[in-house]
Amino acid sequence: MPPSQANLSTVKVLANIPFQVDRAVLRHQLRLKPGSHHLAELDRLVDQAEQIAKPKAMFRMVYVEDKGENWVQLDGRRLTSRILRINLEEAQRAFPFVATAGVELERWSKTLSDLLHRFWADVIQEVALETARRALHQDLVQRFHPGLLSEMHPGSLDDWPLSAQDDLFALLGDVEGNIGVSMTESKLMFPVKSVSGIAFPTQTHFTSCQLCPRENCRARQAPFDANLFEERYGLSG
Ligand code: SF4
Repeated sequence: MPPSQANLSTVKVLANIPFQVDRAVLRHQLRLKPGSHHLAELDRLVDQAEQIAKPKAMFRMVYVEDKGENWVQLDGRRLTSRILRINLEEAQRAFPFVATAGVELERWSKTLSDLLHRFWADVIQEVALETARRALHQDLVQRFHPGLLSEMHPGSLDDWPLSAQDDLFALLGDVEGNIGVSMTESKLMFPVKSVSGIAFPTQTHFTSCQLCPRENCRARQAPFDANLFEERYGLSG
């Protein structure tokens, strides 16, 4: 069931997020040493990116209406995931969201022909996405005072696959119209540097990385815990 128009009025869109790159941090991240002949080129790209970039985000608050063994109902929509269901055990509210580096930077990056420049543009877009995520988090905390928040993202774990993007987008309404993020047939997002998920208040910090055995992931935020699923999410738990 789609969210009602009245409910959609609770959607918060952040479309004017300031974007400025910390150039010292970026140089360090790209392993460029002081005096490198690449610094001027990088500065030129960052200047362009800062002028073009429009990182954006949107979210809304929904109530946790009902729960089953492996599902939760949010705003009339049933989301199937044992892990999400257990993570929302104590929660009364949840916050579906999408944040993006923005179509502007995505299009700009496609105009670059030099491979090194494209790589840098990729990292600059990650900085823009992180900027959007931070702005979203700050706005959400100021508005709703949820306490400690954790997040789940469709596709991070088999238990909540990428197909759940449909639920998430439906809960948010017109994601493309509001922040320019569209979904492909395979449920991936465009621009690629976008993230979707549900944030929820929790007593115990959770990240999907704790349940993900993937090796050598440079985005890992927490060590894999081989016993956690059985201990916290097993059907007898
Ligand atoms: S370890 Fe990497 S792939 Fe696995 S959930 Fe974390 S970020 Fe995603």
